[in-house]
Amino acid sequence: MTQRRLPLEAPSFTCRECGFTSYNLNDVKHRYCGRCHKFMAELRTAADMRVAQQRFADSYRKLLPK
Ligand SMILES: [Zn+2]
Repeated sequence: MTQRRLPLEAPSFTCRECGFTSYNLNDVKHRYCGRCHKFMAELRTAADMRVAQQRFADSYRKLLPK
């Protein structure tokens, strides 16, 4: 009896923006969504920057005299 195993460990990448899953090795490697035409690393960095800027603004405001 031969059992065909599905490649469960096949690399895949699911886009956080649109939910599209890609099995293209280059897409997985670069975390690139072919549907959004965006790199998720860029999106994450942009989001992190907004959070960092907000935190900086909050902490800076506390230092200012009222
Ligand atoms: Zn996408």
